[in-house]
Amino acid sequence: MFVSRRTLLAVVLATVLAPHPVDAQTPVKVVASFSILTDMVKNVGGEHVEVTSLVGPDGDAHVYQPTPADARAIATAQVLIVNGFGFEGWMDRLVKVAAFKGVRVVATQGVTSHTMTEIEGGKKTKVTDPHAWQDLQRGMVYVRNVVEGLAKADPARASLYRANGDAYLAKLRELDAWIVTELSAVPKEKRQVITSHDAFAYFGRRYGVSFKAPVGFSTESEPSAKDVAALITQIQRQKIRAIFIENMSDPRLLQQLASEGGAAVGGTLYADALSAPDGPAATYIDMFRHNVRQLVPAMRQN
Ligand code: ZN
Repeated sequence: MFVSRRTLLAVVLATVLAPHPVDAQTPVKVVASFSILTDMVKNVGGEHVEVTSLVGPDGDAHVYQPTPADARAIATAQVLIVNGFGFEGWMDRLVKVAAFKGVRVVATQGVTSHTMTEIEGGKKTKVTDPHAWQDLQRGMVYVRNVVEGLAKADPARASLYRANGDAYLAKLRELDAWIVTELSAVPKEKRQVITSHDAFAYFGRRYGVSFKAPVGFSTESEPSAKDVAALITQIQRQKIRAIFIENMSDPRLLQQLASEGGAAVGGTLYADALSAPDGPAATYIDMFRHNVRQLVPAMRQN
């Protein structure tokens, strides 16, 4: 086939000058701060995105220490997705170091937050609870923000991201309804759970479960002796059997709490990270299914 020199030049120039990514072969480079966002990006972007997770499966984003490889990943990314609400305290510095110029998506944008008053050094401080993904209705806002972020970075495939997003949101809506049904089958007074840190307040408010933890919203904080003693008393008095460790937290304090309260640890809940791909909570959807299937039988024993 004959191709004129001019046509060839035009094709080359169009490829060089058009905003990147231009062709169907080039996936959008996305960096997500932690595994739950990574899974949302995969659901929305499919094969059109290449997503890197900074905090991987079973990792703790509260106390994460970024690496030079993280800065390099951000430097070459077209989209950066973070939770916000103070979850990734280490992110701003990292973004500065990487001189990131792409589309930045804050997944909690437009999400109503819960706050808690924490006493630190005798001083009361209001802390924003970052764990909004544990309420699926809020998680759906995350997904919409991911859709819009990808559409902005890659407008040529915007309608595809919106279609994938709508299909994924339909699954999340169905899951949300299933959780409401499962949990409302447990008598209200039995819906009490003890976990490692306060990661489930949004879940608790949405689905009507009371969660207590010896540590506040961040795994960085230290449990007070008074709070630990109060929890042990509560385990004993109310015969709480739904005591769970978390996949990304040190289990020792909870094991001690359970044994001093005369109970046993009921299992593992996935709080701030997904499991490895071959684990029981490899996706955002599987995380909820797993947690609910752990919670329901344990709460019935309360
Ligand atoms: Zn947390």
